[in-house]
Amino acid sequence: MNLQHAGIGMTSARTRGRMIERLRTKGIRDEAVLAAIGNVPRHLFVDEALAGRAYDDVALPINYGQTISQPYIVARMIEVLRNGRQLGRVLEIGTGCGYQAAVLAQVAKEVYSVERIQPLHERARKLLRELKVRNVILRYADGSTGLADVAPFDGIIMACAAPVLLDALKEQLAIGGRMVLPLGTAEQFLYLVERTEKGFRETRLDAVKFVPLMGGKQ
Ligand code: SAH
Repeated sequence: MNLQHAGIGMTSARTRGRMIERLRTKGIRDEAVLAAIGNVPRHLFVDEALAGRAYDDVALPINYGQTISQPYIVARMIEVLRNGRQLGRVLEIGTGCGYQAAVLAQVAKEVYSVERIQPLHERARKLLRELKVRNVILRYADGSTGLADVAPFDGIIMACAAPVLLDALKEQLAIGGRMVLPLGTAEQFLYLVERTEKGFRETRLDAVKFVPLMGGKQ
């Protein structure tokens, strides 16, 4: 990642340091995840008017009714996804502004990220290119059926909530792979789905609030 990008100064590096400390206090233990979050200039992923709040631990609007996820949630999901191991190929459903994809790129060999809203997809593509994040492949598509052409994945992460677990996505997990996703409508929970030799194991984690998974492209 090119840290010479305009607007990345010592100040934001220091502010990011404080954010990492807050994430530790909230229970994030995986040093690789904390380092990855420390490497990504979150203020560049939000509108300039919101840049001053980019290192607060909150979700922020990114237009088209979507949000950039709260740093704690990004850290928590990637910590569970990683489970202390090196990740090979990862799929993200819901690129949004590309922030989580940029964080994932630091802990995975290859990240495929799918977005259904074209302007968001285009903007993420431009920013990740400027930041020289080279191991993220962005696709403009409805992610509800995953990416069968490049499956299986060691990890699948969803940044939007489906009402129920989608079989097509489950089937694209490699044996030993993990999927972390929010499920539900009015009430949502984070779930971990693990694929073993024998089948799938589902574990319910924290209560969360995500934007809904939508069908089709826009
Ligand atoms: N990953 C982002 C969060 C984006 S919010 C971050 O780093 O902060 C969730 C995103 O999921 C939105 O941009 C929304 O458009 C997208 N989304 C919703 N349904 C989708 C679908 N079926 N396929 C692909 N993207 C979808």
